[in-house]
Formats: sequence, C-alpha cells, structure tokens
Amino acid sequence: MWSLKNEDPEFMAYMEAFMASTQHLGGCSACQEEQPCGVGEPIHAEFIARQDAWMERRRAEGKKP
Ligand SMILES: [Zn+2]
Repeated sequence: MWSLKNEDPEFMAYMEAFMASTQHLGGCSACQEEQPCGVGEPIHAEFIARQDAWMERRRAEGKKP
C-alpha cells in the first residue's frame, strides 16, 4: 500500500472507494467475473467515479509542458 501523506479529502475519498472496492472484490467471486453482484456494483461504480474525478483533477492541475 501507499503511504498516505496526502490529506486531500478528494484523494482520501478516492482511496477509501478503492479500498472498499478491492475489499469487496477479494471476497466476491461474482465481481471477479464480468458480471458484478448487486452489492458490488455501486461500490465499484463509486470507485471508478472517484478515480475519474481524481485523475481529471490531477490532469487539470498538473499541466506540464
Ligand atoms: Zn460482488
């Protein structure tokens, strides 16, 4: 795991969503296949949304030449 010195709330939300998704995935065979279960689907969707938001922000902030 990363060491989290970052206290950015958006990043933390992304990490929480990532961990929730990973944790669910570890114990759910349905979600390891192509068809996520009813419980897992919103968790994974949340993670993807958080990730997209974070990546988008990083890209907006980190405009390198
Ligand atoms: Zn699942």
